[in-house]
Amino acid sequence: MSNTSVATEHERSLTIMLPAGRLPLPVMEKARELAQRHGLGVYLSTTQNLRLLGVKEEDLEAIKAELAPLGAMFKGPGKFPLPKVCIGKPSCTMGIVDPAELSARILARFGERPNVKPKFKIAIAGCTLSCSGALLVDIGVVTTRNGFDLYVGGKGGPYPKVGRRVLRGVSEAEVLEAIGKLVDFHDAKTANKQRLIKLLEDPEFPFAVEE
Ligand code: SF4
Repeated sequence: MSNTSVATEHERSLTIMLPAGRLPLPVMEKARELAQRHGLGVYLSTTQNLRLLGVKEEDLEAIKAELAPLGAMFKGPGKFPLPKVCIGKPSCTMGIVDPAELSARILARFGERPNVKPKFKIAIAGCTLSCSGALLVDIGVVTTRNGFDLYVGGKGGPYPKVGRRVLRGVSEAEVLEAIGKLVDFHDAKTANKQRLIKLLEDPEFPFAVEE
């Protein structure tokens, strides 16, 4: 089977979540071995995860059982979204911070939160160029020379929207506090799933949104 094979109704994909887009070598080696053994495709997803394509339904649990002891986490309903990050400092000369560090702190604080409503994305940029698309997600954190700016309500899709700034030049602690408020608000106001942009006009929205 080639890496471009089309999944059948009995095939699934398995997404291995990669915080800050970092792929641990043991997971990479095991994924390569599994892909070779089972004839799977390997896709580096737009959300910086690693997806194994063409997994036969009957092999799914066995494949997960080989990856899990290596620390692999699998995407599934209700999980807090991994922030998408740019490479940032020190690998990028423009980087003011390393976004992986803030991503790790966000996940340490919120990563175990259960039953997170779907359609909620976070991104972090190491400078105002926003290579991670921080202005095109529900919560975007952009690093400036004066601290972090926080944007809300961005989205892609057929009707893309640029996020609106709600905080300027705040500290990392204030970013974490704001993310907590936004996730709580989204959770309280969302029956099933919805993008944050739908809530910006809500009179109880916890921040003043810049025009
Ligand atoms: S957003 Fe800035 S720091 Fe991040 S990769 Fe782009 S230029 Fe570099």
